[in-house]
Amino acid sequence: MSRIIEETKKSKRTVLTEIESKQLLKEIGIKTTEIELAASENEAITISQKMGFPVVLKIASPDISHKSDAGGVKVGLKTKEDVSKAYKDIMTSVKQKCPGAKIEGVSVQNMAKPGTEVIIGMTKDPQFGPVLMFGLGGVWVEVLKDVSFRIVPLTRRDAQEMIKEIKGYKLLEGFRGSEPANIGMLEEMLLKISDYMEKTPEIKEMDINPIFAYKDGAVAVDARVVLENDA
Ligand code: ADP
Ligand code: MG
Repeated sequence: MSRIIEETKKSKRTVLTEIESKQLLKEIGIKTTEIELAASENEAITISQKMGFPVVLKIASPDISHKSDAGGVKVGLKTKEDVSKAYKDIMTSVKQKCPGAKIEGVSVQNMAKPGTEVIIGMTKDPQFGPVLMFGLGGVWVEVLKDVSFRIVPLTRRDAQEMIKEIKGYKLLEGFRGSEPANIGMLEEMLLKISDYMEKTPEIKEMDINPIFAYKDGAVAVDARVVLENDA
């Protein structure tokens, strides 16, 4: 079993933090943004300078899953002053919106270049077991519910079909000058997750939202993994 899953269980938690979730994705072979925990404002500055600007700061708390809602995400930070201010703003907002949440600090991440936003999710159906979901990010999933589903294990054909059958597929092909996404790489991602879910019954849910898809690859920008209670 993955060390991250073991350690989360040991600490009697079921929800992995973004940092832990991204470590797990790396183990599965999925590219993520660089990410490092900073426990203080000074540490956030040091890590940002080492990582290289622009960076993103996000609240790191096992109790906060919807980080933007808590005012816990600041993107496009270009200087050390930006990082200082973002750190303070995040802490002020989070303490107000989520009083009592355990705060580990912030995660410092490189700022991913814009791409076509997609999401991949995994939930468990009482009858069919693990099911994967694929869709475009933003309004496509929130308003239009434009997503596709397949039961694990996925064949390559399943992965191809579930990408092609969403209504927004045209955007992935490159629409009105937008960069096309590398569909083959998205298929690989789905297949890697399917394989991993088959051999990891401890995982109850997975939500990678968003993934930025590019012509030459894709990167997971946010991730959340939930373990089974009795895992
Ligand atoms: P939430 O917990 O609210 O879902 P996210 O981590 O998804 O927080 O961040 C919110 C949004 O900020 C993302 O949808 C994405 O557009 C942007 N974002 C977050 N992290 C990065 C990053 N490392 N690089 C570029 N954009 C990012
Ligand atoms: Mg998100």
